[in-house]
Amino acid sequence: MNPFKQWQNELKTKRMVETLNKKGYSAFYMASREEAKEAIIKEVPKGATIALGGSESLGELGLVDYFFKGEYKVFDRYGQLTWEETVEVYRQSMLADYVITSTNVITEDGKLMNQDSTGNRAAAIVFGPKKVIIIASVNKIVKNLDAGFERLKDISPMNCKRVGHNTPCTVTGQCEDCEIHDRMCNFTTIVHNGRKFPGRYSIYLVPEEIGF
Ligand code: SF4
Repeated sequence: MNPFKQWQNELKTKRMVETLNKKGYSAFYMASREEAKEAIIKEVPKGATIALGGSESLGELGLVDYFFKGEYKVFDRYGQLTWEETVEVYRQSMLADYVITSTNVITEDGKLMNQDSTGNRAAAIVFGPKKVIIIASVNKIVKNLDAGFERLKDISPMNCKRVGHNTPCTVTGQCEDCEIHDRMCNFTTIVHNGRKFPGRYSIYLVPEEIGF
C-alpha cells in the first residue's frame, strides 16, 4: 500500500479504537490481519460453541476454515441444507457462546451498523450469543449514520453477488431497491454502544482493507 495512505489508515484506526473503548466496547488495534486472526483465535476457548456471521472478512482471514477444523462446535449453515434447516441453524445459533463476524459499518462516533437478508447475523450482534467478536478493517469506518446507510447501499450488490442472491443489483452492480424474496437488505441494526453488557463486544480493528 502507498505509505502515506498506510500512515493515514493507521492513525484513523487508532482514533477509532480509542472512541470504541470510550463507548463501552473492548476494542483493540491490530497492526495486520494476521495479528487480528491470532488474537481472535486466542480469545475463543476450545470447546466453545460458535456462530459465524456470513462475512467476506472472515473468509479472507481463513477463520471459517480454522474454526471448522478446530476443537469447537460450529453451527454449520454451510452444508447442503433445506431452507427450513438453515433457518433452524440460525435460530440455534442465537444461543452460541460466541458469534464471530465482521460489521458492515462503524461510524466515527462508535456505532455499529449491520444489514442482512434474514436478520440472523445483525440480530446476534445485538443480542443472543454471550460474546460478540468483530473483525473490522479501516474501510468500514464512515462519518455518521447517513454515510453508513450510503455504505450499506453501496456494498449490498457485492454481498448479493458473493452469496448468489438472484437480485437485480447482481446484474447492474447498483441498488435497484428491489421488492423480492431474495432481497438482501431486509433488516438493519444499529448498536449505539457496548455499555449494556460490559465485556460482550471485542472489536479487532485493522488499518488495512479487508472484505467490502
Ligand atoms: S435492495 Fe435489492 S437491489 Fe438493492 S442492494 Fe438490496 S438486494 Fe440489491
